[in-house]
Amino acid sequence: MKPISILEERKTQVFRKGSDEFDISCDKKSLAGSVSQRACVFCGSRVVLYPIADALHLVHGPIGCASYTWDIRGALSSGPELHRMSFSTDLSETDIIYGGEKKLEKALFELIDIYRPKAAFVYATCIVGIIGDDVAAVCKKVEAKTGIPVLPVHSEGFKGTKKDGYKAACDALFNLMDRTREESPEKIPLSINILGEFNIGGETWIIKDYYKRMGIEVLSVMTGDGRVKNFGSSHRACLNVVQCSGSLTYLAQKMEAAYGIPFIRVSYFGIEDTSQALYDVASFFSDRPDIMEKTAALVQEEVKAILPELQEMKTDLSGKRAAVYVGGAFKAFSLIKALKHLGMTVVLVGSQTGSKEDYALLKDMCDPGTIILDDANPLELAKYVLEKDAHLFIGGVKERPIAYKLGLGFCDHNHERKIPLAGFEGMINFAREVHETVTSPVWDLVPRKAWNR
Ligand code: SF4
Repeated sequence: MKPISILEERKTQVFRKGSDEFDISCDKKSLAGSVSQRACVFCGSRVVLYPIADALHLVHGPIGCASYTWDIRGALSSGPELHRMSFSTDLSETDIIYGGEKKLEKALFELIDIYRPKAAFVYATCIVGIIGDDVAAVCKKVEAKTGIPVLPVHSEGFKGTKKDGYKAACDALFNLMDRTREESPEKIPLSINILGEFNIGGETWIIKDYYKRMGIEVLSVMTGDGRVKNFGSSHRACLNVVQCSGSLTYLAQKMEAAYGIPFIRVSYFGIEDTSQALYDVASFFSDRPDIMEKTAALVQEEVKAILPELQEMKTDLSGKRAAVYVGGAFKAFSLIKALKHLGMTVVLVGSQTGSKEDYALLKDMCDPGTIILDDANPLELAKYVLEKDAHLFIGGVKERPIAYKLGLGFCDHNHERKIPLAGFEGMINFAREVHETVTSPVWDLVPRKAWNR
């Protein structure tokens, strides 16, 4: 097969452990023409706010932006499902010339009248930034007439990276939280907020159950199975526990400054990280030793329940090679640990939004020869997956076709999936999926094997 070359300007964002001096460049705008796997600013905002199930989410822009993010997460709701609808102002040529504010106002009044949401988020897309619609002014006017919070999300797609979208979503969330805030500033004993947990396949419910068993009260989850009214008491939590740190650390910092709530970073993927997350929360409430005792008992019980099956699968998976490309680097850390637990080696790892510190940590965790990539494109991923002869690709919706075209197994670890992969229960689901995929006989029949023969 003809070797694939990579773009000259991208070479500083690719690192091979052991042969290059570590100086990866990252945290910058995608290279024009590179066809980045990264999502836009608007998409970054949309995925953070999407799980708030009783809010209206209106995309102010051409229909393509709304269709691109329609039902973008497998985020479940225990009640209303308004979040799963995709509303758009469907801007066309005439609106671009004469402005879209009137159309936005009309759409908001109409939708609020029909669906009676508890709040509304209005997402600004690329073209809205270019024509200069005053989205905030329209939101203010509609809010005054309808009486519900109507929040602009300043997420014009071109104005930065996906991380800027997270930031715009955090600003809107903080705005909502501050405006719906209960009067009392008193802290609620043994209480936490969970930030960066989106209830994919019901993961929030699994995690909340662990905390309940530990004796910890979860005041609000941002934003899994979210309800507008739950944000009103979040300023009264003793601790913020941040999972998807790439997206919600900014909000945790704002809450620390405004309400004095400290935060810790955790991950609920894999046995080690889930246990560590629960122990870290228990340690925070060290004046209550019974919490730590309950946590230890919980971890022991859960690990004991899944270990025999994991050991069985490890026999088949030992020595197999995996490529990992995900949104945030924090998830990549957990995946490397979880795959090691299954006896597998990670030969490629990359992320859309990692920082220099994240990549330095990834470098320390990986074996010599591992490829580390920032903001990769399909050709680079294909090149290194083939070179490393990976058996499995772990990524999201945009990596799936790359894996299948190359003839290797794929595991969805992004927000579109429908099964929970968090917690101890999630670890066993993950291992089963990896095992089924890697050991499937279908991969012996596809062309990639023929190329390598
Ligand atoms: S906001 Fe811009 S980059 Fe994002 S989907 Fe819409 S047009 Fe594309």
